[in-house]
Amino acid sequence: MPELPEVEALRRALDEPLRAFPIEQAGPAHVATLKTFDPPLAALTGRRLVGAERRGKRLLFPTEDGELVVLLHQMTKGRVRYLRSGEEGPKAPAFRLRFQGGGQLVLTEAGAKKRAGVWLLSPEAAEAELAHLGPDALGLGEQRLAEILASDQRRLHSLLRDQRALAGIGRAWANEILHTARLSPFAASGGLSPGQVRSLAEAIDSELRRGLELRERGAKDTKVYRIHNRLGEPCHVCGTPIARVDFEEHTIYYCPDCQTGGRVLKDRRLSRLLR
Ligand SMILES: [Zn+2]
Repeated sequence: MPELPEVEALRRALDEPLRAFPIEQAGPAHVATLKTFDPPLAALTGRRLVGAERRGKRLLFPTEDGELVVLLHQMTKGRVRYLRSGEEGPKAPAFRLRFQGGGQLVLTEAGAKKRAGVWLLSPEAAEAELAHLGPDALGLGEQRLAEILASDQRRLHSLLRDQRALAGIGRAWANEILHTARLSPFAASGGLSPGQVRSLAEAIDSELRRGLELRERGAKDTKVYRIHNRLGEPCHVCGTPIARVDFEEHTIYYCPDCQTGGRVLKDRRLSRLLR
């Protein structure tokens, strides 16, 4: 799933093209993709967007007149692109915004299951839709992170991915961040020393910024991720083979030397079956 660095890089790329021309036609949208019906998509015709904004992993496109907001969540397989005038687009995108001047924003989604979503909302309704999200992970800071960690006794990997606690991090960047902070994915959030809280705050910031910089240059996963999806490959810090453990519905990657003092983490799903 695209996470904060991927979505922020996309937001920056979309910002200018989206405000260049008024909308000529909104839609069509796949019936499973469009989550709202009132106001209708036709209400966007002739309006101009102010550009692209982001909350966590979601994109927001507010109209210049302040009346409407297009909210878009790519989820796991949805992908948003801006096509310039004359550029060949997909035949049946899940959602499309066509602009005067010929450019278009298209959302496509691989596979039969349509999980990505588009909402057309008033600014108040958009606020309500986003109200459950915690503060943005980028620029969070040590103080705020310490409060979040203290408020919840959770395993770190699980807490970092919880959009209600802090918004923007998913399983890939949780793997990268915890490795940089030299913390176990299974460490309890309330049990960190002040020094570990500082390391985690710094790692959140440095990893998300590293990801953003690389994604803005168009880097692919294999270049961006150093821990995520690298089972058996040498850790870039110490050379120990990267290990993997299944936890809840997710697969976690970590370095046993850098992060868990040499301990191999037990597969929670498997141990549950054996109990
Ligand atoms: Zn290591």
